Amino acid sequence: MTTHREPLDSVLDTVGQTPLVRVQDAPDEVPVYAKLESFNPGASVKDRIGKYMLKRMLEDGELVPGGTVIEPTAGNTGIGFAVAAGQLDVNAVFVVPERFSVEKQQLMAALGAEVINTPTEDGMGGAIDRAHQLAEETENAVVPQQFGNPLNVEAHYETTGPEIYDALDGEVGAVVAGCGTAGTLMGMAKYAREQNPDTYVAAVEPEGSLYSTTKGADVDEEEYKIEGIGTHNPATNELFEPDLVDEIVQVPDETAHDELKRLARKEGHLVASSAGAASVVARQVAEKIESGEIDAPYDSVVTVFPDSSERYLSKGIYRSFAEWDG
Ligand code: PMP
Repeated sequence: MTTHREPLDSVLDTVGQTPLVRVQDAPDEVPVYAKLESFNPGASVKDRIGKYMLKRMLEDGELVPGGTVIEPTAGNTGIGFAVAAGQLDVNAVFVVPERFSVEKQQLMAALGAEVINTPTEDGMGGAIDRAHQLAEETENAVVPQQFGNPLNVEAHYETTGPEIYDALDGEVGAVVAGCGTAGTLMGMAKYAREQNPDTYVAAVEPEGSLYSTTKGADVDEEEYKIEGIGTHNPATNELFEPDLVDEIVQVPDETAHDELKRLARKEGHLVASSAGAASVVARQVAEKIESGEIDAPYDSVVTVFPDSSERYLSKGIYRSFAEWDG
């Protein structure tokens, strides 16, 4: 499935075209496929937006060679932008609240980016404010703002979506993905609905997250441990379009954690909690297509495994749930 057999010019040429692999424990009649995004050079789905957004901003003149990209980020996005920035003559500065994963901050720095910490108590809002302040003080600086930038969705509409359709010869019944910025799911869903307006679309969020309220559900806000997906304030997730989604499914931390451990033991996938949550929902959707409860144009479900568990080993991702510092 991976097609990088010819010599390539740059690591950026290895972004995307990730393998699509069948999830074994799913109905025979309705296969579930997962796109393995840890195969990207920065080991996550965010390499796609790093490459796509920086290239487009350079083409549009919004960013100039030698300029600086400044993004508030907790992790994978910073690594994805840093991989691309290094190859495109762009400086990268990431503003990261102190409490976030040390591994991710070390990887951003290893890729040549500057990492600036903001106090944990100021939250992501503090990091966003600091990023904008730095951009004002820095010549030729832009803040891509993955949460509000349509190029985030476009990156997946142009790459992830078509790759899935090519791999399955267009026979895609349902698309399922976790929503952080929602760029991945919105891009996939837009492409899918253009191919077939009846494609079933399911969004995945942790139990305690508030995306479900955008479809009128009465859910309780709680803290959750699943990383990379969910929102406490859907108004800030500007890219999410509830009308493009048939259902939003909440997954408890413990269920996602059991599934990521099952995926490792039984299926050989070293994936993290957001992939565990996506896998659970994708398998449920497949069962409902099989039973006729969900009407989909084809008997297949596609989901995305966004990154790798290696990035969370220090948090104890494979230890018991009680010990897990998610
Ligand atoms: N899983 C992980 C581990 C992530 O880092 C992200 C990005 N926040 C997602 C899932 C969700 O991707 P998106 O922002 O495109 O919704």
